[in-house]
Formats: sequence, structure tokens, C-alpha cells
Amino acid sequence: MRKKFDVAILGGGLLGRLMAWRLARQGHRITLVSAGSREGEGAAAYIAAAMLAPAAEAIDGTALAVQLGYDSLGLWTQWIPQLSTPVFMQQNGTLVVWHAQDGALAQQFSQHLRRAHQGQTIWQDWQAEEISQAEPQLGHRFGRGLFLASEGQLDNRQVLLALANELDQSGVECHWHTTGTPENCAAQADWVLDCRGTGAKSSWNRQGQSQLRGVRGEVLRVYAPEISLNRPIRLLHPRYPLYIAPKQNHLFVIGATQLESEDDGPISVRSGLELMSALYAVHPAFGEARVLESATALRPTLNHENPEIRYDAGQRIVAMNGLFRHGFMIAPAVCEAGLQVLTALMQQQPLPEAAACHGIAVQAMLSE
Ligand SMILES: Cc1cc2nc3c(=O)[nH]c(=O)nc-3n(C[C@H](O)[C@H](O)[C@H](O)COP(=O)(O)OP(=O)(O)OC[C@H]3O[C@@H](n4cnc5c(N)ncnc54)[C@H](O)[C@@H]3O)c2cc1C
Repeated sequence: MRKKFDVAILGGGLLGRLMAWRLARQGHRITLVSAGSREGEGAAAYIAAAMLAPAAEAIDGTALAVQLGYDSLGLWTQWIPQLSTPVFMQQNGTLVVWHAQDGALAQQFSQHLRRAHQGQTIWQDWQAEEISQAEPQLGHRFGRGLFLASEGQLDNRQVLLALANELDQSGVECHWHTTGTPENCAAQADWVLDCRGTGAKSSWNRQGQSQLRGVRGEVLRVYAPEISLNRPIRLLHPRYPLYIAPKQNHLFVIGATQLESEDDGPISVRSGLELMSALYAVHPAFGEARVLESATALRPTLNHENPEIRYDAGQRIVAMNGLFRHGFMIAPAVCEAGLQVLTALMQQQPLPEAAACHGIAVQAMLSE
């Protein structure tokens, strides 16, 4: 019988909740300390569009992130049914469209896609007829499209809430609206797991190791009762590339921006205008949509744009970070890797091989 441990988890965004859930299922006693709310406010995960888009992300994502994304799709399909609170998950693919004058962008996009998938054509070329069959409300507005069949999406806020419910049911002691540091938690637990996202910046950034920063993202959440879409739509556009992620009940999460800034203040007029103009150009009925919320958050990003796991066996601390702009897409694989590392350290066994960690870098923390 394996020994069970007291584990304090810092940060109850996406990764902290997933880790708490999986560790509690293994029988460990878990305490979760999070600056954010039970619903998820305060986490990048609360703002995210939660698209599971490893094909499209291959355009400018790293090869590792893309692989983690494909690995995680299968894990999400196993894990979501294990949650006792229902969560909207859809795997209807993604449709990429563009206006007639932007055909060159589409050509560039498909060349990048092919290169990122080792010469394979992983999309279907759709004509106006196929687009209007799959998305009747788009009709014949777009003459061509690329369909990425493997992709999916989740409802981010439902995932966060379902995980919080799971934690309550499995007896995890949750302290919401509470901040902590690995050092002060270490005194009260056998092991500390640091999943604070950008909140971990000051302890993560040590000389000689990959640096953590926030990368700003902005979204609108709109209610458009006249519009139904069956899958996320990406619009290729020279100035305003856009994604529209349709959730349940005519709720749409609209986003585009990735700004190299750590300003987490409200959305700018310019971003709002650009998002709304591009949205209106996809379908004029979006003109009547109600803007429920405009929101911004910082994506926890490392220099190499991959996730990383660090440990200090002496202090009994494991830190996981760098989920960047694809946290939902890669979180289950990152979580599996974290569980492998933490279990090996707890049992005083050698660290797992790279393959068991889905290729994620596992490093000792350097002292400051
Ligand atoms: C606009 C936007 C759109 C996105 N869209 C997508 C998408 O479509 N698909 C996708 O896969 N990903 C997307 N993401 C990325 C995804 O949201 C992140 O990668 C993911 O949320 C990172 O998870 P995390 O748990 O590491 O950090 P977070 O979700 O930010 O959670 C960190 C938690 O730590 C807590 N915390 C911070 N400091 C402390 C402290 N001192 N003590 C205790 N708790 C603390 C915070 O309150 C928070 O709850 C998007 C992100 C943004 C901003």
C-alpha cells in the first residue's frame, strides 16, 4: 500500500483544481489555497475561451504544446464524464473562414498547418455549400473555409465549477480568497504544489532558469439569441484575426488579442472596437448581440512557451507553470506529468522518464 500524504496546493485556477481533484482521487489529503473565488474569478482560466485547438495552435505554438494538446483531447473525453456536475464539451471541429479579399492569408495559413504537421493535410477544404450545411446561419457568406475536424472546446466556467464541486465532495479543504507562498504552506503540509500561474512570478524567476511573464488576452462574452453556431469559428483577417467560441444558450466568447503586456487593466476602446467590428463582419445579426462582459487576463508564459515542472525535494515543493495561451488544451497531459513527478518524489523513487511526462521539462529549482 502506498503511503498517503498531506498536500497543500497553492492556486485554484485550472491546473490547481485539476491536480487537487486527481490527487484526492488517489487518496491524498488535500488543502487548496487560492487567491481567486470558488467560481474561478481571479484565474486566467475564468476568462479563457477554452478552445481545444491543437491543429490551429500549430501555426505558432510549439511542437510540444501541439502534442500535449492532442494527448489531452483524449484525456478530457475520459475525465469530463467522471465529473458529477455536467460540463459542456464539444468536439465538432473548428471552421476557419476568411473574406474573399483575404485569400492569400488562407493560403499562408494552410502552408503553415501543413509544415507544422510534417507535410500532412490535416484539414478539409470546404466550399460555400459545405460551410452552409455545417453552419446554416453563415449561409453563403464565405466562399471557402478550412475545416479542422479534430478540434473541440469546453465551457471554462463550468469546468471550474464542476471541479470545485468535486473537491468539496472528496473532502478537499478549500480556502478561497486566500493567498499563500510555498514557504508558508510547507510548514503545514508534507508536500506543496505551486500552481499559481502568473501569481508565482516572484518565486519562479530565478537566475539561469526560464522566466515567467504574463501575456495579456482580452475577450468579450456576448449573448446573441438570434445566432446558433455548431463549433468555434476562426476568422483570418490581416488586422483583426478573431475567434468565436459558441457556448450553450447563445453565449459566445469572442477573442483575438495576444498582447505582450503585463497590464491586466480593462479592455481598451481599440480592442473592443476591433473585436466587435470583426464579429459584425462574420454575421450582421451579431450587431444585436448583448455584450455581457469584457474581460482581460494574463496568460502564464515561459520564455520557451512550453509548460515546465520544477521541484525542490529538500523543501518538498513542486511547481508547475507556463500553460500560456493553451492551458485548457494541454492541462490534462500537464496534470498527468505533474502527478508522475510528485508521486516519484513522495515515494523517493527516481524521477519518471521524459515519455511518462509527455515530454515536459522537469528541473530542480535553482536556489536564488
Ligand atoms: C483571454 C484568454 C483566452 C484564453 N483562451 C484559451 C483557449 O481558448 N484555450 C486554451 O487552452 N487556453 C486558453 N487560455 C489560457 C488558459 O486560460 C491558461 O493557460 C490557464 O488558465 C492557466 O492555468 P493556471 O492554472 O496555470 O493559471 P490560472 O488559471 O491563472 O490560475 C492561477 C490561480 O492561482 C491563484 N493565485 C495567484 N497567486 C496566488 C497566491 N499568492 N496564493 C494563492 N493563489 C494564488 C489565482 O487566483 C488563480 O486562481 C486563455 C487565456 C486568456 C487570458
